[in-house]
Amino acid sequence: MNKKKIINTLETIATYLELKGENPFKISAFRKAAAALENDPRSIEEIEDVTKIKGIGKGTAAVIHDLLETGESSDLTSLKEEVPAGLPLLLKIPGLGGKKIAKLYQELGVDSADSLKAACESGKVGELAGFGKKTVEKLLKELETFGQRSERHPIWQLEENVKEINAVLEAIEEIERFSVAGSFRRVAETSKDIDFIIASAQPLVVKDKLLAALSYTEIVAAGDTKISVILAGDDAANADFRIVTDAEYPTALHHFTGSKEHNVRMRQIAKERDEKISEYGVEQPDGSVLTFETEKAFFNHFDLPFIPPTLRAGHTEFERHADIPHLVTLADIRSDLHMHTTWSDGAHTVREMGEALIERGYDYAVITDHSHYLKVANGLTPERLEQQKEEIYAFNHAHPEFHLLRGTEMDILPDGSLDFSDDVMSSLDFVIASIHSSFSQPQEQIMERLHTALKNPHVDMIAHPTGRVIHQRDGYNPDMAQLIAWAKEYGKILELNANPYRLDLCVEHLEMAAKAGVPVAINTDAHAIEQLRYMDIGTKYAQKAWLYKDMIVNTWSFEKFMDFLNNK
Ligand SMILES: [Zn+2]
Ligand SMILES: [Zn+2]
Repeated sequence: MNKKKIINTLETIATYLELKGENPFKISAFRKAAAALENDPRSIEEIEDVTKIKGIGKGTAAVIHDLLETGESSDLTSLKEEVPAGLPLLLKIPGLGGKKIAKLYQELGVDSADSLKAACESGKVGELAGFGKKTVEKLLKELETFGQRSERHPIWQLEENVKEINAVLEAIEEIERFSVAGSFRRVAETSKDIDFIIASAQPLVVKDKLLAALSYTEIVAAGDTKISVILAGDDAANADFRIVTDAEYPTALHHFTGSKEHNVRMRQIAKERDEKISEYGVEQPDGSVLTFETEKAFFNHFDLPFIPPTLRAGHTEFERHADIPHLVTLADIRSDLHMHTTWSDGAHTVREMGEALIERGYDYAVITDHSHYLKVANGLTPERLEQQKEEIYAFNHAHPEFHLLRGTEMDILPDGSLDFSDDVMSSLDFVIASIHSSFSQPQEQIMERLHTALKNPHVDMIAHPTGRVIHQRDGYNPDMAQLIAWAKEYGKILELNANPYRLDLCVEHLEMAAKAGVPVAINTDAHAIEQLRYMDIGTKYAQKAWLYKDMIVNTWSFEKFMDFLNNK
């Protein structure tokens, strides 16, 4: 159990209490407790008695203990049963919070997107206190795209599902090998469902064990070799499992990974040789079926190198396959340049993060807690930044084989100024500048803010350059061609933020940056140790833009990286 999960649970309970229409004091107690934990610099393991923290009372402490002991909150579970199932889904509509939804439900019986639409159109919503004509117009506009959006699931939601399902499948002995397939394996930003291919000689045993261990709300199909469930959780995706023989596994995995366009091209290539590709193997002119040990062997059979799933779009991968060995992979990554600790809004201490980075096999990394403008994230004042130095130095002293650098994720303020003075910035090894506020400013103003940061000689990198959150918000819409031109002119790094919520820069922008010769860093922006895993998704996403490893600064050696910073 990490601190972030506890904080999230407390906040979720507050939201559900709001949906239930509970009294404001009870709701704010949970928000206060979440904030108190957030502001406490210690990790949860270091806190002996949570009730001693100001802002945590008896009720909220009980929830924390429950989480620590069982991994779940029984309060939250019962709240989820009490609140009508449609209400949490409405939270996904921008502009609607728990309070407003509770009001709509209590006064108008709104419990779904459809009933909300009807209530808006009938004029009833406009008559409620707190809902003006403008709000209704905005809601109707959001509802237009709401239905389409909810058919697909964002990668950040599916990533959690896949992680859990991987753990379930790993524990089943009768499985010889397995993999996620489909568009998730190709690192698509959204997918309709999740597909898994499983190799086993005992499909029925696997099926029973799988259904016993999986969290789902409904079984859609449970045949001998094909199982389909709706996963547990709000607005959850379907997961489909296909159990094949070990011999069929490589071709089945290839077939169900797609894309459709890629498979069409592969079938054409086979046809030219009088062969036929199916999910079971490659049919020969004499009718016999060839199977393969691995997907790589399957590609090699057609005189192709292994084409990573991320590239299987049905065009460039066949023309440019000689470039594939140059593309960045997880194994090339030697550092992570953006992460948070308990000094700001992270869940783990400097030491805990440092040890986890060493564990991942990195050579160096930067601690980049928020700067003081970001009060909600407990951003650091110059004084606290100075205090943090001791901890980072102590860590380096204890781990001479590793280089933990001092950095910051410094806010670019709404008025265009930077949150730290040149003096403070120059005392640090690495300075990230980011926008976290006033997204709705006109593009001109946003660009002025970014320009101030880019031309400052102490700034090294712009993090999550557009501020988008996949499936949720578009960000602050910078003029990307201009931003890239400035990065090139001033010798700055642009980030590919690997957090699956962001994946920012997106593929199209990464291609532009690569073309302009702007160096890119792939960073996890981890707020907890387990989020360091996002490096995997980040490097795969970078492959979609055909990024070579030498364009990625965190594949560089420590010496090369420091040379770049000193000479930029
Ligand atoms: Zn940020
Ligand atoms: Zn960050």
